[in-house]
Amino acid sequence: MGDSVGVLNPPSRILMGPGPSNVHPRVLQAMALPTIGHLDPGFITIMDEIKAMLKQVMLTGNELTFPVSGTGSAGMEACLCNLIEPGDRCVICVNGVFGQRMADIADRNGGEVVEVQAPWGEPINPEQVRQALDAGQTKLVAIVHAETSTGILQPLEEISQMTHEHDALLVVDTVTSLGGHPVKVDEWGIDACYSGTQKCLSIPPGLSPVTFSDQAICALENRSSKVSSWYLDMAMVREYWGQARSYHHTAPINMLYGFHEGLRLILEEGLDNRWQRHKHNHKLLVAGLEDMGLEMLAAPAYRLWPLNAVKIPPGVDDASVRRELLERFSLEIGGGLGDLKGRIWRIGLMGYTSTENNVMLLLSALRQIL
Ligand SMILES: *Cc1c(COP(=O)(O)O)cnc(C)c1O
Repeated sequence: MGDSVGVLNPPSRILMGPGPSNVHPRVLQAMALPTIGHLDPGFITIMDEIKAMLKQVMLTGNELTFPVSGTGSAGMEACLCNLIEPGDRCVICVNGVFGQRMADIADRNGGEVVEVQAPWGEPINPEQVRQALDAGQTKLVAIVHAETSTGILQPLEEISQMTHEHDALLVVDTVTSLGGHPVKVDEWGIDACYSGTQKCLSIPPGLSPVTFSDQAICALENRSSKVSSWYLDMAMVREYWGQARSYHHTAPINMLYGFHEGLRLILEEGLDNRWQRHKHNHKLLVAGLEDMGLEMLAAPAYRLWPLNAVKIPPGVDDASVRRELLERFSLEIGGGLGDLKGRIWRIGLMGYTSTENNVMLLLSALRQIL
């Protein structure tokens, strides 16, 4: 068998879908460094540097700030399963796939789920969140900052304020915004926040950075029931990432090397520059698409910079265009999910992929095909 199987040779792609994005070569180099033990003193320094850099990227002073082993959904699950106890009333905002996933996880953890909905392609209306909060004592409000399934950017400050006025915790999904849009954890009063490595951080999928505020830690420490997940129990995982450094599960060493290098790249560029780069390339793409007569799904005020949802023109076949982009130009874009399947394309400009060159390439490829 070993004789007939060739060495791995994945195709070289430009990843302009909803994630993963292209990975910076320096991150891949870091991941190829020699594996060491997860309790090695040399690794402890690396962990300390990761925590310090991650706090800077998430704009938080929270002590409990570290990457959870697993993809973005593991971070989602970690935030919700640690904060929800059976019977807790949870207001979950749903205007796309990822809000729906949060509602599912909250329900699986015994939460009494109250959904606040908006049509896919529109932001959540804060007034409806207020009504849901007024209707009963609530443990937490959970909301997606950057809804990757629709390209919607959700303003958070008003919702954060009303959440705290009602003594509830605010949980925010920043999987597609962290590293591409401003995410200000402390300034915006976010109590639990998670992201993922393969979107605007441009690191392969496999880690989910999370942060918990003092209020969230207080809720964690005052639980009357055990967290249902052993693997994601933050009270135990933080013993490894904190002073004790005691074994919980074996940290994915080489993924963390890549994470370390990815964070270094972000701080080298500077958060402001990075946000401006994402904004600039988004504007360039939208102008080019509109020039071709295409129409964006989201209203201008709510458009994500890293994820551009554009309506598929009538009479154009979704799958064959995406296949041709991949086969002729080695370029990947995403299709729609749920009700939007066959109706939109999702064009990612995330992290390392967000360049003028890639925008120009996609626009000319699309022009040729259409
Ligand atoms: C991608 C994504 C997730 C899930 O992340 P996985 O890495 O696929 O587990 C969660 N929320 C949002 C908004 C996402 O875009």
